[in-house]
This record gives sequence, structure tokens and C-alpha cells, in this order.
Amino acid sequence: MRLTEIIGHDGPRAMLLQAAARDAVHHAYLFEGPDGVGKRQIAFAFAALMNCTERRPDDDACGACRHCRRILAMAADANAPAHPDILAVAPDGKQIKVAQVREVLKVVPFPPIESAYRVVLVEPADLIGEEAANALLKTLEEPPSRTRFLLVTSRPPALLTTIRSRCQRVRFGRLRDDELARVLTERQGWDAEKAARVVGMADGSVGAALALEGDPVMSRREELVGLFLGVRPGDTAGAFALADALVELGPAQKTALSLLDRVVRDALLVSVGAGRRLFVESLREPLTAWARHLGTEALLARLDLLAETRLAMDTFHTNARLALDRLAVALTAPPGREGVRPVLSHDEIL
Ligand SMILES: [Zn+2]
Repeated sequence: MRLTEIIGHDGPRAMLLQAAARDAVHHAYLFEGPDGVGKRQIAFAFAALMNCTERRPDDDACGACRHCRRILAMAADANAPAHPDILAVAPDGKQIKVAQVREVLKVVPFPPIESAYRVVLVEPADLIGEEAANALLKTLEEPPSRTRFLLVTSRPPALLTTIRSRCQRVRFGRLRDDELARVLTERQGWDAEKAARVVGMADGSVGAALALEGDPVMSRREELVGLFLGVRPGDTAGAFALADALVELGPAQKTALSLLDRVVRDALLVSVGAGRRLFVESLREPLTAWARHLGTEALLARLDLLAETRLAMDTFHTNARLALDRLAVALTAPPGREGVRPVLSHDEIL
């Protein structure tokens, strides 16, 4: 896809188009932003634009010349034959190794083989090893005339500051929900209903939306939300039914916690009378009754509980059964009393 065809990221796209139009492409860019929002695709579209031989009147690449076709094919399919002047550097094992970087830097002093610019795409750039980073840094300090570096990362602080400061930084945000829905329907061919099911939970990331689609939580969401809404003060049986259902999900537990988080946020919106579409629209009535019954304080307390549970599981690696049972027990407290809950003990934090 050409730059002007990509959905979202208007600022970064405009900036790159303008740089190319003015023939003022910086020697190195750092594309930084969340995972799965399309940074890599924009990197390839920009590489095509740099090398396009038939630019369009709107200053974008033509998408059809031999450079465009081959470079854009690389973006769409990892197994597509590589364009000889597009050098993609990805981790070999856990890291990008110094030998890989040296291999690329060996050819950099020579002119590109077929096109105007050689483009070195380093992704994810935060996985570059220290020695490799230093080798790259030397080249960034004395940039070769017809090579351009595109470093792509979702964790910019993990890169050497000296590398970051040699690059022009391009910041990518999350896609808006309407943009993500368009990507899923117009580019992935999903129907609107299918897209709507995941958009609210994908947090503006196409990658997250694609992963959610096959997640078992998505097909059981009404059941899980029903169990969650069903837990009443003092209702231990209901609480453990919820905990059991969550434990059974195994690796999908995190998605389930995100789902419940989303449901509580919807309940907060409903309680202030916001009329927008809910994530689980079919449960609007019970959700409205639940929100009224609990009140704002208790809803906010539930957001805290869910966040604590995720923190316990992700950061402190608390056993999932234990963390989810604690969540369930805390949910049985009378509204407003959720503060009285079993917290993580010091031992567990260590
Ligand atoms: Zn072209």
C-alpha cells in the first residue's frame, strides 16, 4: 500500500511525503510507537516512495513501477523476493547481532544496485545488541550519501541515546477506533459486525485486533460478562463460578481481564447516560441495572481490582488461580467496601 492509501497516522505520513517531495529525506529515521499500528508498513511505503520512478501528482509513489511493486510486495508478504536495495535487518535469535550489522555496513559505501536509495530497515530496532548498536552508530555519524536507515521500535527507551539522537524521530500513536474499524473492514475484508466485536478491546492496534479474533474469550464474552455481572455482595458461589471460568481460559485470561475492564468502563458511561454503542451491546439492560446498583465508587473500585489482578499476574507472576480467586472474593464485598480486600503480601511481591 502506498503512503496515501494507508489508514491513520496522518501526521507521520504527511511529514514523510513532504520530505520526499522536497528531496529532503533525512539519512536515518526512528519510527516509534505501539506494536501493531502499522509502522513497518509505513516504512516500506516510504522506501517505495524514495525509489519510485513515476511519482504521482500528489507526490506519493506510483505503486506500479518496478521498484514500487517489489518493495510494496515485501511489506505485504515476508516471503516475497527481496528488492536488492532494501536490506531488512531482523533479530537472529533473540538479538540483532554485530555480524548482521557488519554484513549490511559492508555494502553501504557502494552505490545502490538498482535504485536511487538503498534502504536499511532495522526492526525491531530495540533488539539490537550493544556491539551491533555501536557498529551502526559509527555509520549514522558519517552517513553514506545514498543509503537511508529506517529504525522501527515500540520501545524507544531501550535504544542507545546516541542512536536515537542521530535519527529523526517519527512518533506513531494508536489508531482511533474508527480508523481501526476501517483497516479491518477495508483492508482485511472483515464485515462491520466482526470488526465491531474486537475494536473496543484492541486499543488501536491492528495486530491486537487480529490476535483477538481467534481468542476463545471473544466467543464466550457474553457468558463471561454474565458471570461477572452476576456476582452480588456475599455471593461466594457466583464469585467462584466466575473465578473457575477465568482459570479455565489459561493463556486467554489476560484477554478476559481486558474484556471485564472494558465492561466496567461501559458501565461507567451508561451510568452517566452516554448513549454510545457498548462493547457487549446485547447486555445493555443488565449492565445498566448493574451500574445503577453499584454506583460510581464501586465501579471505579472494580477497575482498580482488575488492574491489580493483572499486575499480580503479569509483573509479580502470582499464580493465576490465587490472583483470580482473590479478585472473585473482593467482588463479593458490599458496594463501597471493595477497599477491604486481600492485597498482595510483601512475600509475593518479592
Ligand atoms: Zn513507483
